[in-house]
Amino acid sequence: MRRALVYRLLVTLVLVLSLASVALAEGPPHWTYEGKEGPEFWGSLSQDYALCSTGKQQSPVDIPASAVTNPADLTFRYQPSKLNILNNGHTIQAAYDAGSSLVVDGVTYNLAQFHFHLPSEHTLTAKPYDMELHLVHQNAQGGLAVVGIMLKSGAENKALASVFANAPKQETAVMTVPNATVNAADFLPATRTYWRYNGSLTTPPCSEGVKWHVLTTPVEVSPAQIAAYKSLFTDDHRPVQPLNARSFLLASQVAAAPQAMPTTGAAQPASARDMLILLGLVCLSLGLGGYTIVRRRIREN
Ligand SMILES: [Zn+2]
Repeated sequence: MRRALVYRLLVTLVLVLSLASVALAEGPPHWTYEGKEGPEFWGSLSQDYALCSTGKQQSPVDIPASAVTNPADLTFRYQPSKLNILNNGHTIQAAYDAGSSLVVDGVTYNLAQFHFHLPSEHTLTAKPYDMELHLVHQNAQGGLAVVGIMLKSGAENKALASVFANAPKQETAVMTVPNATVNAADFLPATRTYWRYNGSLTTPPCSEGVKWHVLTTPVEVSPAQIAAYKSLFTDDHRPVQPLNARSFLLASQVAAAPQAMPTTGAAQPASARDMLILLGLVCLSLGLGGYTIVRRRIREN
């Protein structure tokens, strides 16, 4: 009787350990913008992506005409950077050199990278723009603040010219383009009023706690620049998500309220491991509990 229980316990342990090793060996699951791995299925591709379907504060969203507009009170401290560009299979992205930041609610967020979506992810009264530029910033605690700039067809955008001209056609690791620089300060429109709300990453794992700032004034890119991007990514936008209980925020009111703890992508890689360790501990305690009960019964009989 006792030997059978020990055997069952051992089998459970081996099962839990092998499951854990399989889960840790695999990288993040593949996802796309269309088909069976498209946005409506992201949440079921991996436990790590669950928020993509269960989250209640997801991005992007539609910005209604009634959304409150903040005055131009964001502090941009942007410096030029070398052009460190990559094609990650989902977007064209540029890693930004250290030393540029955005100040939100008195907290400094360092500009980490910028990338694009076609068409825009946020919509304005249900209408998308041609493209959207995302400037992604991270604070010392891993909290994220993103600035979204709408791009519309018009004059050539000289500030983005080197980016479009050097966009890798195939999926690549990051590469620094010789003699090319970018300055995010030149991406910004002259008017910097913005809509603000709390949302998420718009790609898996769809982590929430992201402070979103969508500038109300679009900037122009030429039809040729849009076509150059479209030749690489015909459509790399996530559809708008329900606003649920959220509202658009005025920075002056947010600054006075207590800060919520951010949940960011930076915390994600550990989550699957933590879940498995927890599962292992639960199995172990169930096994030990069962063993103790049966032992007591044997003694009582
Ligand atoms: Zn983005």
